[in-house]
Amino acid sequence: MKLTVLGSGGSEGIPVSYCKCKTCTSGEQRLRPSYHLDISKNTKLLIEAGPDFRIQQLKYGFNFTHCFLSHPHYDHIGGLKELRQTFIIGIPRNKKGKIKRFTKKFFILSEKLHNNISETIGTSLFNETYKAAYKDLLSKGVFKSMILKPYQFKKIGDFEIAILNNLHDSIISNGFVLSHKKKIIIYLSDVGILDEATKNFIKKLKPNLVIVHTPFFLSPLIGGHIGVNNLNDIFQGETVLVNHFSHKCNMTQKEMEDEGKKKYSNLIVAYDGLEINI
Ligand SMILES: [Zn+2]
Ligand SMILES: [Zn+2]
Ligand SMILES: [Zn+2]
Repeated sequence: MKLTVLGSGGSEGIPVSYCKCKTCTSGEQRLRPSYHLDISKNTKLLIEAGPDFRIQQLKYGFNFTHCFLSHPHYDHIGGLKELRQTFIIGIPRNKKGKIKRFTKKFFILSEKLHNNISETIGTSLFNETYKAAYKDLLSKGVFKSMILKPYQFKKIGDFEIAILNNLHDSIISNGFVLSHKKKIIIYLSDVGILDEATKNFIKKLKPNLVIVHTPFFLSPLIGGHIGVNNLNDIFQGETVLVNHFSHKCNMTQKEMEDEGKKKYSNLIVAYDGLEINI
C-alpha cells in the first residue's frame, strides 16, 4: 500500500491569510488534512473529505473508490461540497449532451456521523449545506454510504476495516484499523481521549503505521487533541506519523522533526506530498 499525505495543515491551513507569525512566513505550505491510500489496483481510499479536495486532486491527480469520514468538523467534511461541485455540478457531458458517469464511490463512516451530516448540520435556502451536498451525492447515485459498527471488521473488496470511537472535545471522532495482505494501518484522526474500547482493540495489533493528529505538536490539548508528549503512553515503539499542524504550534518542519525525535523515537512528521510505502 502507498500512503500520500495530501494535506498536513491545521484546520486553517498554513500559511494563514494575513498572519505574520514565524510559521506562516517560513515559506512552508500545508493544505488541510487528507490522505490518499493506494491499496490495490481497484481500491483507493481517500481519507477525509477536506475543504482543499479540489486543489489536492489537481495537484496529485489521484482517483479513489472509497472515502472515509471521521467527524463533522469543517476541516474533515468541508470537501463534501467540493465533491458535489466535482461529481454533480461540474460533471462533463459528451457532444450528445449525455452525462459522463463516474464509477460509484463509497463513503465509509459511522451511523452517528451519517445521521449528523445528513440531518442536523446547517440549513440554507440555497441548498448548499453539507447536508444537501451529502444527500445529493447519495441520491444522485454518485456515492453510496457504507455505515459501519465500531470495533467490527468488515471486508470491503480486498481490504478489511473496523472503525474506532474516540473523544475529540465533546464529539465522537472515528478512526479506523485497516488491514490488507497482513499489513495494518491505524488511523486515529483528531483525538483527545482514546476510548477504553479503542485501547483494548488496538493493543493486540502490530500496526505497520499509526497516524494521529497533533495540531499543537508536543503539547496536548486535553479533550481536543493529544500531543507528541503522549505517544509513549499509548504506543510501544510502532511507527507513528503525526500530522495536522496548526500555525499556533509555531514550529517549522525541521524543528518538529528535531524536537519530536527526542520525545518518541519512531516518529515521522508529515508534510504535504510525503509518501510512505506500507
Ligand atoms: Zn501564522
Ligand atoms: Zn476536529
Ligand atoms: Zn481537524
